[in-house]
Amino acid sequence: MSPSEAIAQRCREVLRRVPSGVTVVAATKGWTPDEVRQAIAAGIGHIGENYVQDAERKKGAVLEPATWHMIGRLQTNKVNRATRVFDWVQTIHSAELARRLSASCAAHGKELPVLLQVNIGREPHKGGVPPEEIPTLAREVRALPSLHLRGLMAIPPAGERPEDARPHFRAMRKLFAALRDEGFALDTLSMGMSADWEVAVEEGATMIRLGTLLFGPRSPG
Ligand SMILES: *Cc1c(COP(=O)(O)O)cnc(C)c1O
Repeated sequence: MSPSEAIAQRCREVLRRVPSGVTVVAATKGWTPDEVRQAIAAGIGHIGENYVQDAERKKGAVLEPATWHMIGRLQTNKVNRATRVFDWVQTIHSAELARRLSASCAAHGKELPVLLQVNIGREPHKGGVPPEEIPTLAREVRALPSLHLRGLMAIPPAGERPEDARPHFRAMRKLFAALRDEGFALDTLSMGMSADWEVAVEEGATMIRLGTLLFGPRSPG
């Protein structure tokens, strides 16, 4: 089997296992446009990139229709480029970033669905905001004219077993439910990666971000 057939086969297998109603975002860091195209041909409709410049380069080469998600840390000096290349931004981590993104969207005549990134494990080196700051940030983002607040995203602390992530996924689900109770019209809870996506889905994930499971172990370079 050629490497690209292997990717297509992995993708089809995963898509068969994931319940309908859960969106699979392929995390494609380190993978080439050809490999991304194989995934799209196998039925993957959503692509996640960690860097603006990678998304620009790959989107221009892939060409197949897909929905492109920013899943990495977005720097304020890249906001205009992010507005042009992405269809979703999952990593809103401050009101300042959100304001700049909304202004950029307005200038481009565009509306962007966004998620707030929650630092659910309160890890100092990780992106996102602590859970207790989410309601305030959500109110600020909801007030912005060109962003459409759709939900929350998190990358829980790396554990040894998938079950280690469950309490974090559960805390995310609670936070999500609390916002909905407050009247936020949210429909997207993005959590779970290759190692723990099944636990995430059990705890209410509506969107999972998968790299290794779709493409195999990360390729060098
Ligand atoms: C790489 C990455 C993933 C996918 O990781 P895997 O363990 O390879 O599935 C998901 N989300 C983000 C933000 C990533 O950077």
